Amino acid sequence: MEQRRILCVGLVCLDIINVVDKYPEEDTDSSFIVNDFLRRSVETSAVVWQVKGQTPCACCVVCPSSGSRTVVLSDTNLPDVTENDFSKVDLRQFKWIHIEGRNAEQQVKMIQQVQIYNSRLPQQQRITVSVEIEKTREELYQLFAHGDVVFVSKDVARHFGFQTAQTALRGLYSRVKQGAVLVCAWAEHGADALGPDGLLIHSDAFPPETLVDTLGAGDTFNAAVIYKLSNGGSLQDALTFGCRVAGRKCGFHGYDDISEEFSDG
Ligand code: ADP
Repeated sequence: MEQRRILCVGLVCLDIINVVDKYPEEDTDSSFIVNDFLRRSVETSAVVWQVKGQTPCACCVVCPSSGSRTVVLSDTNLPDVTENDFSKVDLRQFKWIHIEGRNAEQQVKMIQQVQIYNSRLPQQQRITVSVEIEKTREELYQLFAHGDVVFVSKDVARHFGFQTAQTALRGLYSRVKQGAVLVCAWAEHGADALGPDGLLIHSDAFPPETLVDTLGAGDTFNAAVIYKLSNGGSLQDALTFGCRVAGRKCGFHGYDDISEEFSDG
């Protein structure tokens, strides 16, 4: 059987990083995102091409001395992927589906489609669903109850009144479904996870020698955790790998060559 892959459900935003000495290439090339995906072997055949709206675009100012970033997002009118769009995807190709919390009501219905698909299959062929709850929006909180793996951001954790990843996991775990894993990354403090056995798992951060650019550290962490878990790694392995890859990413601009640096998996 052809190797099953990971499907990402979300929206692509063009980040224009403040460039000092030349005009940004991405300003001049409307197919920049697609080419970027191709270059990195990210398959785009399941992309839903919208006829209305424009590509969302964020201008990011990165401060080299601290690695901090300021993002000015021009939120355009690009529609989100719908339950109907999702129903056209051939689920047999995928072993894992990651959903970035956005239009949560529709996304819950997508997950229900996956559950129906899974119910006909033996355990080892079922699709695992992860969700990310990054933004502090009430609508997104219904997603806690629907992921096999739930990533909750420190922003959301703080919004609920928690000051550490550990207290957030203990406090929010009652919201996830039975058997689920809740993961919370906390910048330079690394990341923690809590599963159905009630044991807190922790990884310290792996800070680079010099902090250069933390933009996308959270997404890098999520991707690395999903990579490990979807290849049979333990929760501790996944968390440590997530922090190693995200930490390394913080040491340079962008994402180029990060996969080569971790080619040992
Ligand atoms: P974001 O800044 O994108 O919200 P998170 O706070 O979710 O990122 O961090 C994700 C992971 O990235 C952390 O678990 C950590 O491993 C790594 N990371 C982020 N910021 C730093 C930092 N300043 N130093 C070291 N590692 C970091």
